Amino acid sequence: MVSGLLRVWYKNKVMMISKIGFSAVLFAGGVFFLSNSATLADSGSSPFFTGRAAYVSVDAVCRTKGLRCNRDPLLKNRVVKNFSGDFMKLHAGSEYILIQGKVVRLEDKIILSNDALWAPPMILKYIKRLELKKPLGVRRIRKIAVDAGHGGQDFGAMSPEGFKEKDLTLEMATLLRDELQKHGIEVLMTRDKDVFVPLPERARLVNEKSADLFVSVHVNAATTPTMNGFEVYSLADASDDVAKESEKLAGRIAGEVEKSVTVAHKRVKAAGFYVLKWTDCPAVLVETAYLSNPEDKEKIKDSAYREKMMAAVARGILDYNEKKRD
Ligand SMILES: [Zn+2]
Repeated sequence: MVSGLLRVWYKNKVMMISKIGFSAVLFAGGVFFLSNSATLADSGSSPFFTGRAAYVSVDAVCRTKGLRCNRDPLLKNRVVKNFSGDFMKLHAGSEYILIQGKVVRLEDKIILSNDALWAPPMILKYIKRLELKKPLGVRRIRKIAVDAGHGGQDFGAMSPEGFKEKDLTLEMATLLRDELQKHGIEVLMTRDKDVFVPLPERARLVNEKSADLFVSVHVNAATTPTMNGFEVYSLADASDDVAKESEKLAGRIAGEVEKSVTVAHKRVKAAGFYVLKWTDCPAVLVETAYLSNPEDKEKIKDSAYREKMMAAVARGILDYNEKKRD
């Protein structure tokens, strides 16, 4: 598991020590316990050792506790939230955290290593305060982020005669917003006009506004014109609660689209798209059709088809929400 250089955090100093042997590492709920006295670690998935106690991976513990841990890809901080709106702010390099409006001091500084945030064990006490009363799977959806793919100088896919994905996605995202609003759901748009919004900005907006769900709307293109149909993606290689809910949501959307829209193929897939990876709520991305396929292109050019498609996506979301139990 660990080889080469081992980084040891000790009395606020980082020392590089090569090849320290140790006998065993146990992992339980994001906390590493090390049986050797002189230890560890090398990367984001390996632990730090302070000489007194093992550091805790904030992200991993939050995942096991069902807490949302907003990770800002640009800043070295985390905001841990429960669904009652209580939150805790942590910052790499600081020994102070803000929890439910109060500043408290931990026994040592928080460390950022390879994109993972590590805190001294006292953090577990504060994480416990925020633990969820209700798991994600039974919590009703009240606020949804609808993401119109691309925009501005980013055209997305384009058909030979100049149909641009960015225009179609904006129109469809607006239709989806209207449909969801009819059912009393608050909708947050990542863009509502033809502007370029970088992906980290989109993720940051969704996380900052604490959206309960994220739905990204796209139109596909492939190098082979025979590729066609509707696709819905959830994040690949994820196994936490958020990922499970994303898969369920993707399944419901695909089911509704298949029921009421004539699509060539329906596929439910997993992928590592940026917006799926960095949004801290169940998230899916829909590829409504292939602009590179002549039949798909004719369909998606038709506004009635787009309306039907977005009504089906909305029903899938509402169906997913309906199956939850308060
Ligand atoms: Zn796209």
